Amino acid sequence: MARYTDASCRLCRRESQKLFLKGDRCYSTKCAMERRAFAPGQHGQGRKKVSDYGLQLREKQKAKRFYGLLEKQFHNTFLKAEKRKGITGDNLLVMLETRLDNVVFRMGFASSRKEARQLVNHGHFTVNGRKVDIPSYEVAPGSTVAVKKTSQKSPKFEEIKDMQISAPAWISVDVAKLEGTVLSLPRREEIDTPIAEHLIVELYSK
Ligand code: SF4
Repeated sequence: MARYTDASCRLCRRESQKLFLKGDRCYSTKCAMERRAFAPGQHGQGRKKVSDYGLQLREKQKAKRFYGLLEKQFHNTFLKAEKRKGITGDNLLVMLETRLDNVVFRMGFASSRKEARQLVNHGHFTVNGRKVDIPSYEVAPGSTVAVKKTSQKSPKFEEIKDMQISAPAWISVDVAKLEGTVLSLPRREEIDTPIAEHLIVELYSK
């Protein structure tokens, strides 16, 4: 499966915003955005004027990077969002939020979306009792995502049982059971990812 393997912190610096791609490091003083909050490269500190197209492009890149998708996956998600009833931008964000890797991250079972994706890929999770190792799997309302029985004894998940987890209102988490249930689709106001989705819609509508 294709995935981005270059330095994660460069992406944050390029977007001039923390994208929280490296778990605990992102909350520490080691975060590159604390020390070099400007775009990488020779002209990183010189780029100032941005066209409308530039703004739209940056917003799309930011959203893609937040959720850890490559261009093709992101565009395909957009095309599906466009076909659904309702507002395309809202649909897009809801589809990104309900990806299995994002749900695992939102449940607090991984320190970053990247780690969540890896845990899902390694087959540590079930959805409604069945093993699912596809990060893009869309978790429907009413579904329960749980750590697979045979993985529950691993130190990584043992540690989670002692953690205080604050999940968004649309997910209910039972830390002792190492599972969470998606109660409903998230409403736009419940999605805190700082993305102006209308700019992405404008970009793809050109
Ligand atoms: Fe981004 Fe995290 Fe790197 Fe900071 S430490 S620049 S938030 S990936």
